[in-house]
Amino acid sequence: MEMEKLVSLCRRRGFLFQSSEIYGGLNGFWDYGPLGVELKRNVKEAWWRDMVSAHDDLATLPGAPSPYEMTGLDCTIIMHPQVWKVSGHFDLFADKMQTCRQCKKLVRADHVADMTRDAEWAQSFAACCFVPKPDGTMSFNSAEAISWAKTRKLGRKLAPGLALVRDPEVTMSWLAEDIENESVTPATLTLPLVLSYMATAQKNETGLQTPCPHCGGDLTEPRDFNLMFESHAGALQSDENKVFLRPETAQGIFVNFKNVIDSSRVKVPVGIAQIGKSFRNEITPRNFTFRSREFEQMEIEFFCHPSQSADWYKFWRDRRMKWWQEIGLAGERLILRDHHADELSHYSTGTADIEYAFPFLPEGEYGELEGIAHRGDFDLRSHMEGKLDPNSCPLEVQKGEDGKPLHKGSGRDLTYRDDITNERFTPHVIEPSAGADRGTLALLCEAYHEDTAPDDKGKEQTRVVMKFHPRIAPIKAAVFPLVKKDGMPEVAQDLYRALKKKFPAFYDEKGAVGRRYRRQDEAGTPYCITVDGQTLQDQTVTMRDRDTLEQVRLKLDDVVAEVERRVTG
Ligand code: ATP
Repeated sequence: MEMEKLVSLCRRRGFLFQSSEIYGGLNGFWDYGPLGVELKRNVKEAWWRDMVSAHDDLATLPGAPSPYEMTGLDCTIIMHPQVWKVSGHFDLFADKMQTCRQCKKLVRADHVADMTRDAEWAQSFAACCFVPKPDGTMSFNSAEAISWAKTRKLGRKLAPGLALVRDPEVTMSWLAEDIENESVTPATLTLPLVLSYMATAQKNETGLQTPCPHCGGDLTEPRDFNLMFESHAGALQSDENKVFLRPETAQGIFVNFKNVIDSSRVKVPVGIAQIGKSFRNEITPRNFTFRSREFEQMEIEFFCHPSQSADWYKFWRDRRMKWWQEIGLAGERLILRDHHADELSHYSTGTADIEYAFPFLPEGEYGELEGIAHRGDFDLRSHMEGKLDPNSCPLEVQKGEDGKPLHKGSGRDLTYRDDITNERFTPHVIEPSAGADRGTLALLCEAYHEDTAPDDKGKEQTRVVMKFHPRIAPIKAAVFPLVKKDGMPEVAQDLYRALKKKFPAFYDEKGAVGRRYRRQDEAGTPYCITVDGQTLQDQTVTMRDRDTLEQVRLKLDDVVAEVERRVTG
């Protein structure tokens, strides 16, 4: 599926609009239209219901070490600034960025990596520059390599490529040398590798800085750019009342852990869930809603005894994967990827990502929908003590010169006492952290299908159909009177009202029935019910299935129950 088709459908049918579109839009911000708002609400409601409100806390779920409880929270977006100092976001939640001295644009320092994902380029480079020798080995043709780079304006498109153009012989002679001694072969040559040769050559030979990808101008030294949006609480705009929009919902849960335990009867193991907006001032927002500056997260902090945390981690990893599959990402595009040991945060003994092969990514690449992390006692301990223990956090920035924590913790006791064993401990935390917008985007991508269906004259036509799982489809059923006379609209309207009491339904009496079906197919409505001449005689209607196009006749009185059974089942 081409992403452009989905983007255009989303706008045309009211799933997603660019924020403030009439003023030219605001980069990194998106509005959900009439269909989109229902779709995203259904994702969030399914998550809340399945994880929290309908959770069976009396049974032991398959794979779980024991029964557990679940409860919820709704915390503020702006919190005490100390929260972000202690959590590490104030010091460390940053991307490297540079500013162009000429055009003044901001550039993310790793922009080169972003542009090197094009596997096709690597293949074309290899095909053009490697020449088979009679003995079966390959030789490398530097002249071809240089002209390949020049014709693609590599130097302009890919910043480090400039060195290749300015000083190509040096770069290519290094590459040729490595090819000669066989440390690089056509099979292992990738575009990033080529670029890394160029970048090294550039640095060593020319001393040049990476130029601006927009205008080729000089860039400043990379510096940290904190991704938190800032504001001020109160009238004065001073450092004292500086506040931040939360970059994740998780911290609200940690700082309320004691409140929840003390005010409710929940006991560890317990999960505390929250859905809410988060904000990150992403330097390069892109790929539709995938990387936005304002987005919604669905997060659980699951508190358990340290001795059981490894088992709980496995349980949550598998449970969350299964959940995405159940609401419609059942295909091969969804994967569970365990992080390698060297990818793990210093406090984590296990992290896995649930990833989806979004159509805007190159073949074989996946984008994260959700991360499931074993966070140990890092967060609760930090909020108690500040950043003191070098083993819990080896990062220098968090210690002052006197060896005391640079950022003081709350000093509150956030440990937990088991009232049966009397043991007091700091719970370990498993964190399944999902994005509602990325999830919704994956469901939109997965749902998009083109097939053929007969039009009103029986001629096969291409149809666009959004095959959402009935549970998350924005509209569950549409009702049409076949014609606008003979009492059909009245019967259809009564049915529509009855359906609407249960879930979003749609009434349409305009135009040919085939056209009405098509509109609902594009909206992803799973069932269309038509009131026709026969209805007036025997009180039956037709119900058309969006995916199979099958039409069954059923009693008018049974329609609501039947649709309900199908969409909640
Ligand atoms: P990425 O590496 O893609 O920036 P992340 O690892 O920083 O993501 P987390 O901090 O683990 O993301 O946040 C949890 C979830 O929140 C992500 O899995 C994703 O679904 C969502 N999320 C994070 N950043 C964004 C964003 N800029 N736009 C939309 N969703 C986001």
